[in-house]
Amino acid sequence: MTANIIDGKAFAGTVREKVAAHVARLKEENNITPGLAVVLVGEDPASQVYVRSKGKQTVETGMKSVEHKLDVDTSEADLLALIDQLNNDETIHGILVQLPLPKHLNEDLVINSISPAKDVDGFHISNVGLLGTGQKSMVPCTPLGCLMMLRDYHGSLSGLNAVVIGRSNIVGKPMAQLLLGDSCTVTIAHSRTKDLEEVVRRADIVVAAVGRPEMVPGSWIGKGATVIDVGINRIEKEDGKMKLVGDVDFASVSEVAGAITPVPGGVGPMTIACLLANTLTACCRANGLQEPEGLTA
Ligand code: NAD
Repeated sequence: MTANIIDGKAFAGTVREKVAAHVARLKEENNITPGLAVVLVGEDPASQVYVRSKGKQTVETGMKSVEHKLDVDTSEADLLALIDQLNNDETIHGILVQLPLPKHLNEDLVINSISPAKDVDGFHISNVGLLGTGQKSMVPCTPLGCLMMLRDYHGSLSGLNAVVIGRSNIVGKPMAQLLLGDSCTVTIAHSRTKDLEEVVRRADIVVAAVGRPEMVPGSWIGKGATVIDVGINRIEKEDGKMKLVGDVDFASVSEVAGAITPVPGGVGPMTIACLLANTLTACCRANGLQEPEGLTA
């Protein structure tokens, strides 16, 4: 059996098109332009790449993009003052503070100082609580992207057995909440899970968010299961070249699974597309306008 490939890159393209079309309507009918502010503290190379890519795609969908690049030794007080200013800026509907922050800054404090309505990463404690209680919230981008692909592939997820490997606050836990919201029977597995292999084998849906290269082999996957690979791991191959791989062993898993997201080209592109979708959603909510269909949880 060879799995269907869930093409996240193409799917992200359709999400961006939907966002751009809605943004164009907002401008024409309401004279409103959604705005996203991204704050980067320090010069972490990977973060710089992400921030550049986010800014470029924000502009391409017709939204306003503002970047604030701060010195690595910026004080907490200065960062909080900038967030306060952005919270009060009516032209900014989404605020994203790129993580990780330098060690002297308290990430929880910083994230929780963002207005929940503008928290397009969905990490604010209020949004975490709203998601956990099944209420309207800003949903973290990576799990939202995974959910969109799963809904698109399966239609209804109701009653399916879903196993999420990884319990982080940014991927594993919100992913589990979203799957529960769609009436899956959800198991969260993690580094202390016993018989992980057996747990994974029972799943109709496997979401791997661990950060260990090619950890999940095909022998763990139930026949026909849908596998969403969130992992992004850079490894050196035998020929000395660097390669990006996921948390599942694509070659063996695609022999048994019914469907699989590749790395790269799966979850990654969906994450930024969902950030754009969240910014648009936040803008519509702020202005009491109808939210875009199919772009929220
Ligand atoms: P994290 O390190 O915060 O969490 C990893 C989780 O994996 C932990 O909950 C841990 O319990 C679990 N784990 C570790 N070893 C395990 C093992 N042997 N068996 C079972 N579970 C184990 O990581 P994260 O931030 O959730 O990210 C996970 C992966 O997803 C990373 O590769 C990261 O780069 C990637 N990621 C990708 C995107 C994207 O846009 N595609 C976004 C966020 C994270």
